[in-house]
Amino acid sequence: MAANEVIHPNIASREATLRILKAFGLHASKRLGQNFLIDPGIVNGIVRAAGIIEGDRVLEIGPGIGTLTQGLLEAGAHVTAVELDKKLPTVLAETLKGYERFTLVPGDILKVDIPAIMGEGPFKVVANLPYYITTPILMTLLERRLSITDMVTMVQKEVADRMRARPGSKDYGSLSVAVQYYTEVEKVLAVPPRSFLPAPEVDSAVVACRVRMAPAVAVQDEKLFFRVVRAAFGQRRKTLANALKGGGFQPETVVNALAKAEIDPKRRGETLSLEEFARLSDELA
Ligand code: SAM
Repeated sequence: MAANEVIHPNIASREATLRILKAFGLHASKRLGQNFLIDPGIVNGIVRAAGIIEGDRVLEIGPGIGTLTQGLLEAGAHVTAVELDKKLPTVLAETLKGYERFTLVPGDILKVDIPAIMGEGPFKVVANLPYYITTPILMTLLERRLSITDMVTMVQKEVADRMRARPGSKDYGSLSVAVQYYTEVEKVLAVPPRSFLPAPEVDSAVVACRVRMAPAVAVQDEKLFFRVVRAAFGQRRKTLANALKGGGFQPETVVNALAKAEIDPKRRGETLSLEEFARLSDELA
């Protein structure tokens, strides 16, 4: 056992997790998407993918009993963690006792004022996300234009596929466009159910999103760009022209804009690249 383990026993194991849950009389809550990491290799893989160096500032979403948090703290990060489960602050006070760079913010990540809790300066987001709200969390983090440099998150494999999907594939959708518009995305690790307690019913993956200095494509009106994207994917089986009309755009405007953008109105929205969506939304502007 390393000297540090005497002071801070490693949380990332089945035994430690079961011991902690039992000591506090807790059961993992399905409703809150609680699947605790029990694989130290995966915790290290996430910390490495986030490129944590001494003094990095990290926002963690859902620290649970502190498993990933401990890995981040050991790597030298200052961690601010937002946790919704009211039973967990008492647990974290014990499992992360003695780590001075840890701040817990009780609350819902979709409601907290992130700039207020993170203060000035850039930060990284690192999280084993609660799967029931993965997409709203990712969209909130991306759209708010926070000072995030990297987002390294554990998500369902299927969501990882959607985040990285290319035009024309069945997984390509609004999430793919939003993630790729703001970030460069890379799948870092495939994670099997046995890495968690309880084991989820799905495979998982760690995805690293490096936030771009400027979005992947320049658009005149960002709100309109995402309105066009949502309309195009809102009715995937319709042609682009019909999907846009269904999304509230005037038929004549749609026909003209598609012609000017040199996009065949019979194509389906799911075949358009980010550049084409940008061209189209600029013509609709
Ligand atoms: N980080 C821990 C780990 O890796 O073992 C726990 C990850 S678990 C998949 C997701 C965590 O997110 C749980 O602790 C859950 O209580 C918390 N959570 C669920 N919904 C939340 C929300 N809206 N805001 C903040 N935390 C939330």
